[in-house]
Amino acid sequence: MYLRFAPSPNGRLHLGHAFSALENARIADELGATLLLRMEDIDTARCTPKFERAILDELAWLGVTWTPPLQRQSERFGAYREAIESLQRMGVIYPCFATRADIASAIDAQPGGGTAWPRDPDGAPIYPGLHKGMPEDEAAARIAAGEPHNLRLDMAAALRRVGCDRVSWSESGAGPDSETGIIQASPAIWGDAVLIRKDTPASYHLSCVVDDGFQEITDIVRGHDLFHATALHRLLQTLLDLPEPRYHHHRLIPDQDGRKLSKSSGSTGLAELRAAGKTAQDVRAILGY
Ligand code: GLU
Repeated sequence: MYLRFAPSPNGRLHLGHAFSALENARIADELGATLLLRMEDIDTARCTPKFERAILDELAWLGVTWTPPLQRQSERFGAYREAIESLQRMGVIYPCFATRADIASAIDAQPGGGTAWPRDPDGAPIYPGLHKGMPEDEAAARIAAGEPHNLRLDMAAALRRVGCDRVSWSESGAGPDSETGIIQASPAIWGDAVLIRKDTPASYHLSCVVDDGFQEITDIVRGHDLFHATALHRLLQTLLDLPEPRYHHHRLIPDQDGRKLSKSSGSTGLAELRAAGKTAQDVRAILGY
């Protein structure tokens, strides 16, 4: 059995990351499983070796041990490309040349100025289908001419292919519609999600699913902010014929004002806490460990 802690080295760790790492270590221990570490560094512009070193140092300070080798997503672009090619062969993916501004104006042009336009769980407007159904030769010519584009999942085609408009997973953490047990959810809440961005070789959703399969992760322990992403991940796992992991979405650690912590959450950063004289034991105690 394998678990993974999967930080993005685009900033320093804060109390929320520390809690997630400690939850992973605790559950791995309870299950007699192995904890792996994965750097989610597909965004090579924002992720740096300096932040990676800081994360390794802070995990060691906190006393979270993991089993090598360290996996980096920046070294796995070929695997994401293969997954995309296989989705392409299934006909569940299409190129989209629209910019954010094109999408925003298509939505503004809707009745009511787009105020009632549906949004995905991250708050982004559901893709209005601007370039869906573009003739293949036109798309191929635009790609050949070097026009920047995303690759999007054709949600309707993907759901047809799996033969069901809902997915399910086993959840041992907290969920909005069930305390524990099996969660049933609709991936369609994401619309035609972007799987490859213009500027990065994969989206979080695609690289996460491909790597969880590659690392044979059996138990995914992560923050509740990713609960809804799991519907999309289960759909991609089904399409790509990857094994189904169990999920545990844990509570989030809020800042002093009750808001979600961000990379720049000053006083809750592990580096800041260390500089203020807090020990790893103090930090564990703040988090209930
Ligand atoms: N890289 C993600 C983050 O730092 C975690 C992804 C996951 O655990 O699936 O929030």
